[in-house]
Amino acid sequence: MAADLIDGKKLAADLRAEIAAGVAKLKAEKGVTPGLAVILVGDNPASVSYVTAKEKACAEAGMYSREIRLPAETPEADLLALIGELNADPAIHGILVQLPLPKGVSEKRVIDAIAAEKDVDGFTPVNVGKMLIGEECFLPCTPHGIVKLVQVTGMDLKGKHAVVIGRSNIVGKPVAVLLSRKDVNATVTMCHTGTKDLAAFTKTADVVVVAAGRPNTLTGDMLKPGAVVIDVGVNRVPDASKPKGYRLCGDADFASCSEVASAITPVPGGVGPMTITMLLWNTLEAACRAR
Ligand code: NAP
Repeated sequence: MAADLIDGKKLAADLRAEIAAGVAKLKAEKGVTPGLAVILVGDNPASVSYVTAKEKACAEAGMYSREIRLPAETPEADLLALIGELNADPAIHGILVQLPLPKGVSEKRVIDAIAAEKDVDGFTPVNVGKMLIGEECFLPCTPHGIVKLVQVTGMDLKGKHAVVIGRSNIVGKPVAVLLSRKDVNATVTMCHTGTKDLAAFTKTADVVVVAAGRPNTLTGDMLKPGAVVIDVGVNRVPDASKPKGYRLCGDADFASCSEVASAITPVPGGVGPMTITMLLWNTLEAACRAR
């Protein structure tokens, strides 16, 4: 079987067009432009490129974005004070602090300082708690995008077995929660490094979400024929034939998995474009709620 490609770029483009229309409507009807503040501390190259991509996406959607770049040695107290100012700024509806933060700065204290109604990443304890108990909240961007990617395959997840590989706070745990909520209704198994015989679980899965951060965590022989594979991993693998000396790959072995799966996300071009899209979605939502 040659799996269908789940085109994250296409789905993201469709949703971004919807978001841009929503932004234009909000501007025209209420005179409000959704505003996103992105804080980058230090100059981690991957973080710089993520922040640049977020800014570009904001501009394309017609949103206002304010990028605040701070030196790596910025004291935590200054960062907390800045977040306090942004919490009170009516032009800013969403605040995103690009992670990881430099050593010596507490990610927990910084994230906790963001007002829940401006937490468009969905990382604060208030939003995580609300997601868990099914209250209205900002859903975390990557997990929300993953659910949309599964749904675009046309698979009705009700009663299906979904296996999530990984239990991080930003991907694995929230994906497992979202897939098991009543509106989706999958039966979810969460696997991690303590799982004995990972393949025994994945072989019974209708959907496998792999977010392990390790290439080849999932191979074709671990899949049930026809399964849907969502590959969240982004790994740099040395490759002398590439100008940068590396290539990107996911956590699934694409060649063998696509022989067995019915649909699979590519890396890049699968989950990645959806993450920024769901950030825009949340920012628009925050601006709509603020009025
Ligand atoms: P993480 O915090 O390192 O968590 C990885 C999880 O995978 C852990 O729970 C770990 O188990 C589990 N794991 C690792 N190897 C495993 C194995 N062989 N078998 C079973 N479980 C295993 O990583 P993360 O932040 O969730 O990110 C995961 C990947 O997604 C990374 O490659 C990251 O770059 C990528 N990512 C992509 C996007 C995007 O927008 N495309 C967004 C976020 C993350 P333990 O808990 O037992 O250690």
